Amino acid sequence: MTTEPFQLQSDALTMLQDWGNLSPHVLAGFTTKHGGTSSGPFTSNNLGLHVNDTELHVRENRRRLADSLQFPIETWACADQVHEDHIVKISRDLTGYGALNYNDSIKGTDGFYTTDKDILLTLCYADCVPIYYVAPEHHTIGIAHAGWKGSVKNIAGKMVQLWKLNESIPTANVHVAIGPSIGKCCYKVDDRVITEVDNILSSSDTFDSPYQKVSDGQYSLDLKKLNLLLLLNAGIDRANILVSQYCTSCEKNLFFSHRRDKGKTGRMLSFIGFKS
Ligand SMILES: [Zn+2]
Repeated sequence: MTTEPFQLQSDALTMLQDWGNLSPHVLAGFTTKHGGTSSGPFTSNNLGLHVNDTELHVRENRRRLADSLQFPIETWACADQVHEDHIVKISRDLTGYGALNYNDSIKGTDGFYTTDKDILLTLCYADCVPIYYVAPEHHTIGIAHAGWKGSVKNIAGKMVQLWKLNESIPTANVHVAIGPSIGKCCYKVDDRVITEVDNILSSSDTFDSPYQKVSDGQYSLDLKKLNLLLLLNAGIDRANILVSQYCTSCEKNLFFSHRRDKGKTGRMLSFIGFKS
């Protein structure tokens, strides 16, 4: 019996518990749909500025999160996410952009990492997979956004490669957590997606399939398992990987879901930061 790594801390917040022992200064988590000011399909804690919600509401929701985490909004790194595999190293001069005005977001980016303290790396989600990284001995943290497109571009493994090449961090020192996302129970895809999944896993030694055929041309895909396999391929020790059991579509009282809500819905925020 495995325990869920993301535990409700308040109405509005789940926190990644297990990394407390690893590095007491790391704060990582994932918001819920509760505790905000938005209405309609965005009720109530929508943190996405790009989904046609009232901006005043989203800004207030973001300020509430900043207050509760004690990471001021000027310390946030925010992306204009495009389902690609571009990862940006964040320093203090890049924070604050996009935190209250979407147009200022760091463009075309689906992953962040930093070696600096007092920066909150943030990304938005409604079904895609949040992937959290920490190398405690190297004071390095990261986060990635992996829907099926980012997954088959291997953004999960790319972070590990970047840390190795640019920061000289041995892969053995990297811990990863796969957060709440849509589960295989609720995620059907077609041949177009499966062809790309096969391509990215073709170099894998142990092909443990992350999908099952459900009918002609229809498959249920386990995006969390796909990213787990990609992380193992990248050399991460299985013992260093946590996987959330939450399905954002099944947990309709807790999370927004792009697929379940037919595209008109809010966004949760994943975040990770080092406190000094
Ligand atoms: Zn489900």
